[in-house]
Amino acid sequence: MLSKLRMDILNYLASLGRGDSTVTRLEFEGPRIAIYTADPSVFAERNNVARELVNLIKKRVVVRPDESIRMPEEEARRRLKEILKDVQTNIAFDKDQGEVVIEGSDQALFSILTPDVIAQIEREIRWIVSPVRTPLLPSRTVEKLKNYIYGDGEERLETLRRIGEMVFREQLFEPREVLVSFLGGAMQVGRSAILVRTRDSTVMMDFGINAGASKMDEMLPKIDFSPELIQRLDAVVITHSHMDHHGALPLLYKYGYRGPVYMTEPTLPLMVMEHLDYINLAAKTGQHALYTEQDVRQMARHVITLRYNVVTNIAPDIRLTFYNAGHILGSAIAHLH
Ligand SMILES: [Zn+2]
Repeated sequence: MLSKLRMDILNYLASLGRGDSTVTRLEFEGPRIAIYTADPSVFAERNNVARELVNLIKKRVVVRPDESIRMPEEEARRRLKEILKDVQTNIAFDKDQGEVVIEGSDQALFSILTPDVIAQIEREIRWIVSPVRTPLLPSRTVEKLKNYIYGDGEERLETLRRIGEMVFREQLFEPREVLVSFLGGAMQVGRSAILVRTRDSTVMMDFGINAGASKMDEMLPKIDFSPELIQRLDAVVITHSHMDHHGALPLLYKYGYRGPVYMTEPTLPLMVMEHLDYINLAAKTGQHALYTEQDVRQMARHVITLRYNVVTNIAPDIRLTFYNAGHILGSAIAHLH
């Protein structure tokens, strides 16, 4: 599968007739495939190339600039400052992925960096430009979260590549039947957890706690029936940031799960805030917390955020799409295909 996938991609790029420098590297980044190109014209059209490839191979693709064609960092930084004039920003270069992240809270930043302007800048400096809006008020949760995820940049990338190997592994069976088990949340409010299994893959939808329960066996999803499942999960999907849907998630990481957890972008900081609150509250009231900040950090490193309405491969035979559920900020209807 992997080599067929690789071949399909290479064949398509060869059909563009651009020569040997078109692809220098192919890497997995979680559920996406990253293609590094040393051909400036391919990079300049990266969005079109990615769109055509998605149609062709039905996988998400991002085209990245090879190191050899990027404008030197200092020069690119100077150029960006010229364009952004006196807008307050923090500019950071990600050498691994050829991406420059421009953070700021000033609305002017986003007025200047329209999609057209971004495309123009990218063609000039040959780095991917990602503007990121920082909170208007300093947020300790967001800072902490960044540190959890990127504190060790190398490790995050390694994690994404490992996840990609799993997502894009060969599919062994024809998808025919699906087994759905409710580990909680059926006929009750709390501990939502739905296990979805095919012959190839295993996915957990939500992993909440029942906050009203006093006994442990009523509080947590019923994974104690087959704890070995934790090691076999392909993915966890969190629909929204309420404790009855994600409150037990760090426990999966405490007990050894190292796979991805998918959610929308707003869900992540809201969820982490609730986990840390829970740990603090337990400490203050002399109760034993089910998990520690270390487990929350481990979890955060495995989060992959997805946008609404974008189809993403999360296992060899399963695709996930989030739709706006209109319940709370970031809440999603999860469609498994
Ligand atoms: Zn809810």
